Amino acid sequence: MTLPGTLDEAVAALAAMPTAVPVAGGTDLMAAVNSGLLRPAGLVGLGRISEIRGWQYQDGAALLGAGLTHARMGRPDFAALIPALAAAARTAGPPQIRNAGTLGGNIASAAPTGDALPVLAALEASLVIAGPGGGRREVPVGRMLAGLDMLRPGELIGYVRVPLLHAPQVFLKATGRTGPGRATASVAVVLDPARRSVRCAVGAVAPMPLRPFDTEHWVSSLIDWDGDRTLAPEALAAFGEYVAAACIPDPVPGHSAAPTGDGPGTLPPAVLHLRRTVATLARRALGRALA
Ligand SMILES: Cc1cc2nc3c(=O)[nH]c(=O)nc-3n(C[C@H](O)[C@H](O)[C@H](O)COP(=O)(O)OP(=O)(O)OC[C@H]3O[C@@H](n4cnc5c(N)ncnc54)[C@H](O)[C@@H]3O)c2cc1C
Repeated sequence: MTLPGTLDEAVAALAAMPTAVPVAGGTDLMAAVNSGLLRPAGLVGLGRISEIRGWQYQDGAALLGAGLTHARMGRPDFAALIPALAAAARTAGPPQIRNAGTLGGNIASAAPTGDALPVLAALEASLVIAGPGGGRREVPVGRMLAGLDMLRPGELIGYVRVPLLHAPQVFLKATGRTGPGRATASVAVVLDPARRSVRCAVGAVAPMPLRPFDTEHWVSSLIDWDGDRTLAPEALAAFGEYVAAACIPDPVPGHSAAPTGDGPGTLPPAVLHLRRTVATLARRALGRALA
């Protein structure tokens, strides 16, 4: 394994050995190797690149190094900066995983259950990607997760640019078990007082985080941004229902793909349960953000 000391050295190492793959914490990659799914010809370790293990401030945003671990992001100083990302990091698997697993690995793996992903989508973060010859390009995280602007061969995620909103933000996650586990559904809600908007993203229910834009606009218009920013319980409940219906829509009558539904146009019980879970998470997340 090659262990470069800078981001550009890592990019150069990948260029010199195009069949090698980058490895950060190894929590996803080594699981794939151990299960025989992946046989990389070589590894470029990112663990010694100190420039991507912290963060810095830049033009009202935080520039987060891709090598930040979940454990580091879960600490109080980081939570004061980006509360929803810290909350997601604190739930990302058991302690061994949180100590080794990184922000960059979470994004590059792009698993539907990646806990950082709905938070980054709601925050409208962007990725600073390092390429050959010291090149850098910036891509909105939503575009990469949607497959519209992917990492090219030999490129690395160097940093994640997150706007600092200085307002409440909440991440909530449901799992199928008690204790640490992968999300069955997750919701990130962030308030952006400068733009007078609520932004919301739902994770784990689709291959990529989903943004219910119409519901965001509707609920943002109900909030008195210069006043107490509270919403009636009925409005919070409606927000939850609308978010859930937008992310898990009713099947078109006569076109139900549901194998166990009651008939055309009916969601199967497990999907209905998931929709209720999303509605509850979204209602609670917005309620807490506005509390
Ligand atoms: C038991 C277990 C439980 C888990 N639970 C959760 C959970 O609850 N929530 C959750 O979100 N995740 C969970 N995970 C997944 C995993 O821990 C995270 O996705 C983690 O953030 C991956 O980071 P890593 O540094 O270990 O990535 P690695 O395994 O090192 O790499 C993963 C992929 O990303 C690529 N990569 C890594 N860094 C970069 C970079 N800077 N630029 C470009 N490509 C890069 C690698 O080539 C590889 O393809 C769990 C994993 C395990 C094994």
